[in-house]
Amino acid sequence: MDFSYTDEQQHLRKSVREFAEREILPHVMEWDEASKFPMDIVKELGRLGLMGSIFPVEYGGSGMGYIEYVIAIEELSRVDGSVGIIVAAHTSLCSNHIFLAGTEEQKRKYIPKLATGEFIGAWGLTEPGSGSDAGSARMTAERKGNSWVLNGTKTFCTNGHYSDCAVVLAVTDKTAHTHGLSAFIVDKDTKGFKPGKKENKLGLRASDTAELIFEDCVIPADSLLGKEGDGFIDAMRVLDGGRISIAALSLGMAQGAYEAALKYSKQRKQFGKAISEFQAIQWKLADMATEIDAARLLTMRAASLKDSGKKSTQESSMAKLYASEVAVRCANEGVQIHGGYGFIKDYPAEKFYRDVKLCTIGEGTSEIQRMVIARQLLKD
Ligand SMILES: Cc1cc2nc3c(=O)[nH]c(=O)nc-3n(C[C@H](O)[C@H](O)[C@H](O)COP(=O)(O)OP(=O)(O)OC[C@H]3O[C@@H](n4cnc5c(N)ncnc54)[C@H](O)[C@@H]3O)c2cc1C
Repeated sequence: MDFSYTDEQQHLRKSVREFAEREILPHVMEWDEASKFPMDIVKELGRLGLMGSIFPVEYGGSGMGYIEYVIAIEELSRVDGSVGIIVAAHTSLCSNHIFLAGTEEQKRKYIPKLATGEFIGAWGLTEPGSGSDAGSARMTAERKGNSWVLNGTKTFCTNGHYSDCAVVLAVTDKTAHTHGLSAFIVDKDTKGFKPGKKENKLGLRASDTAELIFEDCVIPADSLLGKEGDGFIDAMRVLDGGRISIAALSLGMAQGAYEAALKYSKQRKQFGKAISEFQAIQWKLADMATEIDAARLLTMRAASLKDSGKKSTQESSMAKLYASEVAVRCANEGVQIHGGYGFIKDYPAEKFYRDVKLCTIGEGTSEIQRMVIARQLLKD
């Protein structure tokens, strides 16, 4: 068992960190307050190969693995979780669904554009009435001759307004419950398809979260992604990878919150000494650092399983559950260590506090992760 990163992985971490600190950090609060989608950064990440890190070179990807993908998402999120979630939803939800379930033709058509950032992708599973119970989706896809006709609304879709294509799940057989769901790829500007309400959010405000509305939207028969009726099963496979990216998002924000608190604790003086000299503060920092390390180990284990082609359902959920809850605890303690300044927007602590909460909700809440883990445990 070797816990060290390769030279290439260390180099990747260093270069993504430098990029994030140089290109993203100066704009973080401006984008957050204006809810401004950082399009230029996304395009630049595409040029750097970070919008398709997990895809093979022959499909325009960077040919890296999940370990490298985690490093990249972590480093981006250490500076701005909004950028982290944009890349994560694009890569491990939209693009990876096409990569996992698509025909060779679909992969050749979409993955090179998505992997290079020419296209931005969105993924729509959630609906207004179906979140945790994703199998109860109501959006329909009806076969008519050589076409499918989509009707319904997806909600909370990351990148919704900025996506060039979206993968969406719809009911093709009402009698078959989860086996009646199928996935489709829809291009932007298709008649009958439009993004709807842009959500005004607590955190991750520079990322876009939107409705996708389908009204008699006619798409060609070959827009079906995967086998008819396999949409739900494929979506669960997609989430095995997606949850690793939410663990990485959590990890990056936890690390950012911790570093900000550590720095502040050495600068802030009370009772004639730096607050870092008080045992109460030291114990908070020690707990934060320990939990972040444990979360990173769980996340890297899940990533390593993925890279070796093994099933990672349980390990991905454990990593996502633990890392997201660690991120919430670290951001909370980060504000506490900053005292009143933790509540003020001049310091990064308050933004981390707002941003991390999504991690215990998106791609399955903590309660759902516990259900997934328990189901795996009880199988044996
Ligand atoms: C910023 C953001 C980005 C998102 N991006 C995407 C995206 O790109 N694509 C996409 O498809 N979705 C996306 N989502 C949706 C997200 O995955 C859902 O919000 C999440 O799965 C929870 O669903 P819900 O909001 O409907 O909550 P609900 O399912 O209504 O849950 C409400 C509460 O009930 C609990 N609960 C529900 N069922 C059970 C149960 N059986 N046992 C115990 N507790 C239970 C939940 O844990 C939660 O605490 C995003 C959401 C947000 C906020």
